[in-house]
Parts: sequence; C-alpha cells; structure tokens
Amino acid sequence: MTLLVYSDEYLLHNNDNHPENAERLKAIISYLREQPFYENLNIIAPEHAPLDVISAVHSEDMIERAKRIGWLDPDTYTNSYTYNVALLAAGGLLKACREILDGNEKNGFAAIRPPGHHATRNRSMGFCIFNNVAIAANWLAENGKKVLIFDHDVHHGNGTQDIFYDRNDVMYMSFHLSPHYPGTGGIDEIGRGDGEGYTINAPLSHGAGEECVRKLMEEIFIPVAEEFKPDFIIISAGFDSHYSDMLGGLKLGIDFYGDIIEMLSKVQKRMIASLEGGYVKEVLARGVAKEISQMLGEPLKFNDRASGSKCDDVVKRLKELLKNYWNI
Ligand SMILES: [Zn+2]
Repeated sequence: MTLLVYSDEYLLHNNDNHPENAERLKAIISYLREQPFYENLNIIAPEHAPLDVISAVHSEDMIERAKRIGWLDPDTYTNSYTYNVALLAAGGLLKACREILDGNEKNGFAAIRPPGHHATRNRSMGFCIFNNVAIAANWLAENGKKVLIFDHDVHHGNGTQDIFYDRNDVMYMSFHLSPHYPGTGGIDEIGRGDGEGYTINAPLSHGAGEECVRKLMEEIFIPVAEEFKPDFIIISAGFDSHYSDMLGGLKLGIDFYGDIIEMLSKVQKRMIASLEGGYVKEVLARGVAKEISQMLGEPLKFNDRASGSKCDDVVKRLKELLKNYWNI
C-alpha cells in the first residue's frame, strides 16, 4: 500500500484571498476520494512535530515568530491556527518517514500544508512557515540515512538549499524557472565545503518543457542520484511547474509527474512526496493523483503532455560544472 498523510486540520490555516489557501487541499482530497485506488491507501493522521526536531533545522527566533498572527513577509500569512497546523505539517511528514523507515510501507504522499521549501534556517517566507521537507530529511540523516531531495516545484527551494548547503548527507536537486521568485538557484550554486557537488540547480527559461526536463533527468539528475545511492528520497512536489499555472512559466503536463516518480523509483523505492506549490486546483488534484497512482504501480493516464523549449545548454553546463564530483 501507499501512505497518504492527511487531516482536516490542515484546512485551518487559511486566507481565501491568497493563492495558497485551504481550497487547494480540499480539491486534492475530494478528487482522491473518487479514485478506485483510494481504498488501497494507508491514510495516516499527523502528530505534532517535536520541537527539538524542528529546532535542529530552524532557529528559536524563527519558531517563536511563527506564533504571531498577521503577515511574516508580504507573501506569508498566519492566522490563529497556523503555528499548530505548521507543527502538524512537519509532524505528518515525519510520521510517514518513520513508517517507511520501519518498513511498514514503501512510499507515500504527504498532502500537507502550509508548504515548506522556501523556509530557510532563520526565516519563514514565500507561503512557507516551517521547512517540512528539510525537517524530515534532517531527522532521517540523524538516523544515519542518506537522503535525496528532488524538487519539481516551478520555484527554487531556497530554504532547503540553505539548510543543507554545506552537507554531503543530504543532496538537493531542483529544476526551476529562472529568473523567478525567490531569485536563488543559479547553475553555479553547487554547495560549499563538504557539501560541494551535493546541490544541483537547473535554472530554466520561460517555456522550457518536458523534453528539457527529461534530458536533465536522464543525463544529470538520475546518474548523479544513482552514484549518490540515497537510502531515502523526499520529493518537494510542486505542481506550479504545470503549463497552466498562473504563478509558473514551465511547460510540464500532468503525466510527466508520473514519469518523474517512475525514474526516481529506479534509484530508490523508499520515497515520500510532500506537497509544495500548485495553484490551479484541477491540475493540483490530478498531479497528486498521478504521483500516488504511479507509486501504487497502477498509473492513471491523463493524456496531458506538453511540448516546450529544450535546454541543451543547461545540460551541457551542468556536466562541465559537476564532472569533478560525479561520473557524468
Ligand atoms: Zn512554487
């Protein structure tokens, strides 16, 4: 079976006038409930993440600031439930990682919010309160596991990169639109010190599509991942890289998200995807369903493919930049 992390409590962090609102998760869950595979999911309710696990990744000041009600930056709202919900988001993902680590299930999807990949060590930002994926990856690393984080959101996960930039036990890979929010993720940002070569960024031009990302997967991301040999893969699952997203500019179709899962599964079957962005509700629901059905080994077919521009120059430059670290 495949795990699904979900709780109605995730709907309590909400602002109807903001693109990152509770309707996103409602659309996902109601669509999943219509699917024949829904009864094959092992649905687990979240627990609060322990504070010591969060403070291993975030500063005390930042954790305190998340209790405030209002705006943490011009994009990031909080309400009276937010702090509690953010603890449940990180805690839900942690619980799923523990289940997979214990061998109870092989893979899963954490339908959690608020999202996390923009939250740095010291700062909540970009709709994100705590960095759920980084908290889970750090916990796995403290348990002796090598972790690969693969980020397919249209935005660069600056927070995740920041937290693991000088480490070689957690690898961060991202393709993203550039220039775009939050402005980080340049091709030459490859890590620092012990972490050199363990951060890989593919900044892509507006309109880059499936041909481009497939080539990146086949020639860079997958070969490096195979050499890194992760014990666990966490996917920052952002569906704003779909061609229809109003906050995006890349051109991926829904079926391509299944291809990403399929390719990564060949590197390591123990994986969990964690919800990040994606603001077209129908696409979001189908993207999540595609990834879960792929994990279950009975992929749904949407016949939603998009052709966009290629990015051979990015692939070539990455090979040059990374050849001293990896056999590519
Ligand atoms: Zn995003």
